[in-house]
Amino acid sequence: MGRGVKSNKKQTFNAIDRREMLKKTGLALTVAPFYFGLDSCVKAPKAPSFDADVLVLGAGLSGLNAALTLENLGLNVKIIEATDRFGGRVHTAKESDVPGHPELGANGIGGGYARLLDAAQKYGVEIGPYRPRTEPRKGEILYAIKNNLITPENWVNHAANPMPEAFRKGSPSSPAWSVYSQLNPLPKNDLVAWRNPEYAKWDRSVYDILKEKGFSEEAIQLTASTNSSYGADAKSISVLMYFQILNFITQQAASAGKGGAAIGGNQRIPEAMANAFKQDILLKSPVKGVVGEADGVSVTLENDKTLRAKYVLITLPASALRRISLSPLPKGKQQKAFQELSYTPCAQLHFVPTKKYWEEDGMPPSMWTDQLGGRFMALKNDPSDPDKVTSCVAYLNSNVAIAIDKMKREDALEAVMKSLVTMRPSLKDALQFVHYWTWINNPYAGGAYAYWKPGQISEFALDIAQPMGRVHFAGEHTAVLSRGMEGAMESGERAALEIINKI
Ligand SMILES: Cc1cc2nc3c(=O)[nH]c(=O)nc-3n(C[C@H](O)[C@H](O)[C@H](O)COP(=O)(O)OP(=O)(O)OC[C@H]3O[C@@H](n4cnc5c(N)ncnc54)[C@H](O)[C@@H]3O)c2cc1C
Repeated sequence: MGRGVKSNKKQTFNAIDRREMLKKTGLALTVAPFYFGLDSCVKAPKAPSFDADVLVLGAGLSGLNAALTLENLGLNVKIIEATDRFGGRVHTAKESDVPGHPELGANGIGGGYARLLDAAQKYGVEIGPYRPRTEPRKGEILYAIKNNLITPENWVNHAANPMPEAFRKGSPSSPAWSVYSQLNPLPKNDLVAWRNPEYAKWDRSVYDILKEKGFSEEAIQLTASTNSSYGADAKSISVLMYFQILNFITQQAASAGKGGAAIGGNQRIPEAMANAFKQDILLKSPVKGVVGEADGVSVTLENDKTLRAKYVLITLPASALRRISLSPLPKGKQQKAFQELSYTPCAQLHFVPTKKYWEEDGMPPSMWTDQLGGRFMALKNDPSDPDKVTSCVAYLNSNVAIAIDKMKREDALEAVMKSLVTMRPSLKDALQFVHYWTWINNPYAGGAYAYWKPGQISEFALDIAQPMGRVHFAGEHTAVLSRGMEGAMESGERAALEIINKI
């Protein structure tokens, strides 16, 4: 007699035995639920039920690219997204919020954004050479430094220019970039090297590097801590990250492809990707917990609904991931990465000009300021009237963005307006405030994009994207070769392939 038969018999006997016993003791009726519970225990275990092969958390570019890749390979995939829209940090303003619908999030698409350009073409979104971009037109900018309005031509010899002799040319932010470019030790065209331990000695603060190059406190503040596109200030960012950015920019510039921006707004690309995805996307469904199990992963939403899948792909920025519970907890360096990776502060105040202040004072309409106005940019976003200023934005980065974002909206508006009018009197009564947008105080973003503090690349860049059992990770912060939107696409592709390899 085989072992299986033996054990079956034993199970049957045990079940009858218990029923008989319960009947005899009169417990059958009173403890019926308990009894049935016992009965179900002795049946063969049910196959685990799954809502999907893969649950993708987040409908930004990384999540959408991963979900489409997995769907095309025949898997049952669901996407879960906290907000009511697709695209995450690709976010075009609504025309009703800001005329000309500028980008609130990602704006520039590089010529070498192969995956993104490919997706745009595949899903029918046209890329235009020029589109409403969040930047002034060439030649239409002034520098507003210490309340002096200075043209770019006059900047080089201006008394307010604090840069060392060799770095006085260019815009106030360009000297720091010149230093990064001079020092960049990464091999040309090598997009992977930045994580190589051999370059760990460069994982130091921008502040230290500029000090060594002879920059004064004032010069460092202006070139690397004011309106910086990355980090909060020069002390909080690793120069090694800038080397990676430089290599990436160089590769983009050398690419034969044509970048630009999507006609109608960059958000049309993730929308078209979501449209092409045939399976379920749950919008307005913030995730609050993820539990990895031996045979699957459970995901609990804020409405307490739980879904199960064989695999889960988390594409949330680390700042949003910190808000949800993960079990088991990530360990060691990966835990540190999720806890400590920081996000670039960015807040924006959008206005409509009510008079042509630039004609009144005869100066270019946009200003790069060292005050609360940040980068004040006049945007020309009407294709039928290309010279019309459709909106203006005080685009705030660095510590200024953090300070303004902490204020009550009306106080923030008052402070920014006061600063702008003090610098440029023609702005008095010239702007109608229409929209405030913050990436900082946003639970699903926590900032514009990840940046690496000194020491962090060497400490945890190699660990951040490691799968934890059946839980995988993607998102721009996990990209290796590319940055920004293309980094998000790259990371989604990588994670989808990781999962396919396991299935
Ligand atoms: C102001 C700004 C300017 C930029 N400029 C450029 C540029 O010029 N060029 C460029 O290439 N890139 C730029 N970027 C960066 C680019 O937008 C990002 O790198 C990219 O879009 C990130 O995609 P992602 O999929 O990794 O993350 P996300 O787009 O953030 O997607 C993650 C998704 O997860 C969702 N989510 C978060 N928490 C939860 C939760 N608890 N439950 C469910 N869902 C959740 C979010 O709502 C979001 O939709 C810019 C970004 C900003 C903000």
